[in-house]
Amino acid sequence: TDELDAGAVFRWLTTAAASVEREADLLTELDSAIGDADHGSNLQRGFAAVVTALGKESPGAPGAVLILAGRQLVSSVGGASGPLYGTLLRRTGKALGDSEQVTGRQLADALRVGVDAVAQLGGAAPGDKTMLDALYPGVEALSAGGPDPYGAARTAADEGAQATVPMRARKGRASYLGDRSVGHKDPGATSSALLFTALAGAVAD
Ligand code: ADP
Ligand code: MG
Ligand code: MG
Repeated sequence: TDELDAGAVFRWLTTAAASVEREADLLTELDSAIGDADHGSNLQRGFAAVVTALGKESPGAPGAVLILAGRQLVSSVGGASGPLYGTLLRRTGKALGDSEQVTGRQLADALRVGVDAVAQLGGAAPGDKTMLDALYPGVEALSAGGPDPYGAARTAADEGAQATVPMRARKGRASYLGDRSVGHKDPGATSSALLFTALAGAVAD
């Protein structure tokens, strides 16, 4: 069915944590080209804290799981990505409210609220070579529905991350490089695509 419960969101986040763990070196390598070489280790620390917190407390509603996870990212990650991803999860969770079951449509709408909050917090827009360049296409594809919305969202987010390569960074550390940021894939857009891949994997089970 189309319904997601707290367990599905728990699986999403633990799948995301495992893929961050697996891809940490790649994320850090991307960040070494246009940032300060810590994106992989930032997210490893953040998602490890998420997994620990979810192991201690297991909230019974999808929204509460996301809020708990978002708080861990804010408090455990020093870099820009901690508050940004923390805001994404907390605001998405808040938008879901306290229902124990949510539909795919509700999740898509809530994620859009979360992504808008990231844009507002960071003052960035699509095209600025940030995580938003994967988050917006992902949430857009999820909202469009279709036979396989999660698979479509994964593909759209991957393509969005790939599309950051020719962009010139206008926000975050990479913007200090100006034109020298061109030709490199944005680390945050790359990790955002991992989140959509994890979502597609978790809801398929
Ligand atoms: P830091 O840059 O503080 O070391 P990370 O390396 O963990 O933090 O995260 C860098 C990523 O954060 C970038 O690749 C980009 O996608 C994202 N980012 C940075 N600043 C912003 C912003 N203002 N809005 C949206 N995303 C941003
Ligand atoms: Mg960094
Ligand atoms: Mg840093």
